[in-house]
Amino acid sequence: MKIVGVQTYLLRAPLITPFKTALRTVEAIEDVVVELLTDEGAVGYGEAPPTAVITGDTLPSIAGAVRGFIAPKLIGRDVLDIENNCALVQGSMVHNSSPKAAVEMALYDLYGKALGAPLYKLLGGAKERLETDLTISVDSPEKMAADAAEAARRGFKVLKVKLGSDPSRDIDRLKAVRAACPPGMLLRADANQGWTPREAVRILRRMEQEGLELELVEQPVKAADVDGLRRVTESVNVPVLADESVFSDADAARILAGRAADMVNIKLMKTGGISGALRVCAIAESYRAECMMGCMLEANVAVTAAAHVAMAKGVITRIDLDGPALCREDPVLGGAAFDGPVITLPDKPGLGIDGIEGLTPYEI
Ligand SMILES: [Mg+2]
Repeated sequence: MKIVGVQTYLLRAPLITPFKTALRTVEAIEDVVVELLTDEGAVGYGEAPPTAVITGDTLPSIAGAVRGFIAPKLIGRDVLDIENNCALVQGSMVHNSSPKAAVEMALYDLYGKALGAPLYKLLGGAKERLETDLTISVDSPEKMAADAAEAARRGFKVLKVKLGSDPSRDIDRLKAVRAACPPGMLLRADANQGWTPREAVRILRRMEQEGLELELVEQPVKAADVDGLRRVTESVNVPVLADESVFSDADAARILAGRAADMVNIKLMKTGGISGALRVCAIAESYRAECMMGCMLEANVAVTAAAHVAMAKGVITRIDLDGPALCREDPVLGGAAFDGPVITLPDKPGLGIDGIEGLTPYEI
């Protein structure tokens, strides 16, 4: 099976409620969908969101990178030559981790289709189901409490609470969320780089003293402040998860070797796709550290790909794949199925996606 062409489209999916973090506010998912076409009629699907404040990628830059630089390297290639195909993607240009991720998804989708097996089985097949958390956007304590109660009603057992936009209010926010949750709810805090190291230590110690019980804290300080991250990790009891500080396998090795964080959040949009995510898994395994699988604001193409990797690897012990759960409707046919927090994958070759509704052609 050979790759003969590429198409790029725009996918739009309105969110149930605006997504707010310390870095941005978003009303709808608007992503680039990539289709790799083959001589046998099979189509490989990929998707990338424009997360400019984290990856630097925008809608036109994603489409331009895919059509102008990445896909041309793959025309005529055999889909079973996955290792070399991924190397061509990664070598096609520097940076641009999101368009590379989208194209790698489509490559792995075709790889699974050519071999007639679900991708997660081919990559390791460690699990049969995943349970994801749900994000509570940063807002007033009252609004966050109401959102947390609603999430509990929908059956979520783990919440990721966004903090860091106004550090002086963060303890009140977490208190309100904790009070609104049934007993046993696991709470993760994500400051999205919003605290200084000093603020992070003070806030996290206060949360500990108040018995607010965090399972972990994600990216308390600026991405580039590895020393500050280490200071927080050394100074508080709650485990620290590095997100924006770790894009690549090299970043993961540096953070874990220096004990700057306890865990690593893998996102395909940071690693440049599945091959990089698998390398981060291998690094974490070598340091006996666990990983979370996360996503940006992604629809169910990219989230399905992330779920395949998470399902395949035992080292990924925490799941933050709530993009589709935040959407009002799911335009993707097939792929990962959501039952409240529980994610399962179809027993179909590749990613198991049957098609995508409502796409508009998008070319640069
Ligand atoms: Mg995060």
